Amino acid sequence: MPAIPGLDGYRSRWRSADHDALAETVATFFSREVTPREQEFAAQGHTDRELYRRAGALGLLGLSVPEEYGGGGGDFSHETVLFEQQTYSGDASLGLAVHSGIVTGYLTAYGTDEQKRAYLPGLCSGELVGAIAMTEPSGGSDLQSMRTWARADGDDLVVNGAKTFITNGQLADVLLLAVKTDRDQGASGISLIVCDLRDDPPGFRRGRTLHKIGLQANDTAELFFDDYRIPGSAILGGLPGLGFVQMMQQLPQERLVIAVGAVAAMERALELTVAYTKERTAFGKPVYAQQNTRFTLAECAALVRTGRIFLDDCVQRHLDGELDLPTAAMAKFHLTESQCTVIDRCLQLFGGYGYMTEYPIARMYADARAQKIYGGTNEIMKELLARAL
Ligand SMILES: Cc1cc2nc3c(=O)[nH]c(=O)nc-3n(C[C@H](O)[C@H](O)[C@H](O)COP(=O)(O)OP(=O)(O)OC[C@H]3O[C@@H](n4cnc5c(N)ncnc54)[C@H](O)[C@@H]3O)c2cc1C
Repeated sequence: MPAIPGLDGYRSRWRSADHDALAETVATFFSREVTPREQEFAAQGHTDRELYRRAGALGLLGLSVPEEYGGGGGDFSHETVLFEQQTYSGDASLGLAVHSGIVTGYLTAYGTDEQKRAYLPGLCSGELVGAIAMTEPSGGSDLQSMRTWARADGDDLVVNGAKTFITNGQLADVLLLAVKTDRDQGASGISLIVCDLRDDPPGFRRGRTLHKIGLQANDTAELFFDDYRIPGSAILGGLPGLGFVQMMQQLPQERLVIAVGAVAAMERALELTVAYTKERTAFGKPVYAQQNTRFTLAECAALVRTGRIFLDDCVQRHLDGELDLPTAAMAKFHLTESQCTVIDRCLQLFGGYGYMTEYPIARMYADARAQKIYGGTNEIMKELLARAL
């Protein structure tokens, strides 16, 4: 983790020498194989799928998946190290937060043995890329009103509908698709189905890659289902109507993954900005020597350190099986708002260079904005927390 310059070396309590070794492997992978190709990925709107295989070969995918399904047999702390190091490297092309932070988690927690054997080894080796589709063009916050419908037809399901803003949408081979299996029911009519998208099956179509203001190197896409036929056995866990409960149980982890990215991004921004302001001069002295710069950096350091300590508490709670929905919601909205504040203030200290995309702080600014939207908007997070007060 980038140290906060001048402050004692803080160390997350959940971290061991194993995590340090893993962090080094991840950092080397990103610096050698991924970030040098950042511009290429941003221009084409997606990463190179071969990099998933490379990450898999290094044992970096499915770190918390049991070994019998091809994973690393670790826990969420190992995934945390992966997401942190990816953020420190500056890469946002590989959709690991979704692939490893969400998709493998659902399959491990709820998949039938057959579903686990069919998909987890491939997701862990990087042969397969994972995605999850909940949001629809007509709305993402109000999940109970989703329109995508999987009609029973004999032993099959016939799916009609559309999803949008789907991370890894162009590269995905395995898709967890949220559908209504019973349109007369709200939450209890929702199911997740495991779709095998290899060779783009009939009735399934990928739409355009969406153009975003940030996260340029990661593919975000629309997906369409027109009489897409799939066996009923593809329902996650085998039983219909459990999708909403499964989502509610997994969402704390999804939100924690976002919070990990938020804190790591703040740490990186602060480190970059302290270094820049000590080097850049104005009026015959370093920009760092101006009281405004020093106060800004001190305030940012306070947000970064307190954010890290809160995050680590949430990670520990999650490892202990005690991270509740309101606390995860608090972490998601509070830490992503801190992230946007810190990065905005750091960017200002770069002056005009801060607005130029060749400077990492500019890309971090654009990338950060989505953090307040996906994984449940921050307004929805505040609702969830407020309900518990
Ligand atoms: C880069 C990116 C990647 C994404 N990746 C994925 C993905 O992989 N899979 C996926 O399924 N989705 C993904 N999403 C979609 C994301 O989760 C949704 O955009 C989000 O949940 C909000 O849904 P919406 O866009 O339909 O907004 P809406 O639900 O239409 O909301 C519009 C506004 O109204 C506010 N609002 C709505 N209801 C309330 C309320 N009750 N109280 C107060 N305010 C409210 C919202 O907070 C928001 O500000 C991604 C989005 C982005 C930007």
